[in-house]
Amino acid sequence: MQDASDILLTALKTVNYPGYSRDIVSFGLVRAAELKDGKASVVIALTSADESVPTKIKSEVEKTLSLLDGVKEVAVFVDATKPQAKPEAGQPARPEALKNVKAILAVASGKGGVGKSTVAVNLACAFAQLFEKAGRPGVSVGLLDCDIYGPSVPLMMGVSGQPEIVDTLIEPLQSHNVKIMSLGFLVDENSPVLWRGAMVNKAVQQFLTQVNWGALEVLIIDLPPGTGDAQITLSQTVPLTGAVIVTTPQQAASDVALRGARLFEKVNVPVLGVIENMSYLEDTSGKRDLIFGEGGGAQTAHSLNTEFLGQIPLESALRQAGDDGKPIVLGAPQSTSAQVFLEVAEHLLHLLARAQK
Ligand code: ADP
Repeated sequence: MQDASDILLTALKTVNYPGYSRDIVSFGLVRAAELKDGKASVVIALTSADESVPTKIKSEVEKTLSLLDGVKEVAVFVDATKPQAKPEAGQPARPEALKNVKAILAVASGKGGVGKSTVAVNLACAFAQLFEKAGRPGVSVGLLDCDIYGPSVPLMMGVSGQPEIVDTLIEPLQSHNVKIMSLGFLVDENSPVLWRGAMVNKAVQQFLTQVNWGALEVLIIDLPPGTGDAQITLSQTVPLTGAVIVTTPQQAASDVALRGARLFEKVNVPVLGVIENMSYLEDTSGKRDLIFGEGGGAQTAHSLNTEFLGQIPLESALRQAGDDGKPIVLGAPQSTSAQVFLEVAEHLLHLLARAQK
């Protein structure tokens, strides 16, 4: 007996690519097809310069699947990209929406759960504070959350809601003096990972080309862990000024972090440094317990021939601040981790300025 997705695939084989006698399945365009509780969900990915192609395929798929027995509803997502013009040298040109953004900094990690988003939100707030102290008030820092698997920036920055569209551009939301855009504002947290995975390319491109970022000193991009589609789309869509890698102290984590970082090297993005998180737990007497081992951050930095920017301790106040929507650099600026974040942010501003030249 055929299982549900085979039934969908068999039907999809009768849908031809517009203008061709070949079908969309044999062209390899169907990324996913799922039938659950009468709802058929199909994800199609294609590259075409002809804007009518995605619409034609979508309506043909909807028509075909709605005729099947047991299908009550059809949802089709077409992830359409235009063919990329080859950049002249290394990095792509800056999209119009980012033309007044001075520096773009990616925050990346090899593994999930190492504190990448925690670092991204605290760096954003620390930058905002430093600019204000330097006599440059106003919102000059942006934070773009591209982590599809766990968009935690809205929670950590204490912001929620639906961004508005004004004159064809998406208005970022704002919190703690930072402009914020997140997949979390747009994607229902209960939607299947399959859907979110398929949407990431499109979303990353849209966030970089159709969000009204305005004039910013720095835009921080919180990437999903690893070396997937988001990293590749990002490096093909915008010229990144640099990347920072977040890792934990143990060897296994730093090996994965290295693999993630190599991707940036390949696309000529300078890795500005490595931040080690969860480095130690300090008790009230000042004694440090190296819960996750030691050396991972320094080793990763050494292997990448880049700077070791700092060590963030394990602190319950840091986790609490994230859950409360007020990053620790604002909520408890005297804490050890806040102090480290502020130092690292100051140092990174110099590194970014140098990389911009
Ligand atoms: P990632 O973005 O790498 O998946 P997060 O930044 O979302 O990781 O962190 C995962 C969880 O760990 C969050 O609840 C966060 O508050 C907590 N956390 C991160 N770093 C620390 C730390 N140094 N001390 C205590 N909790 C931390």
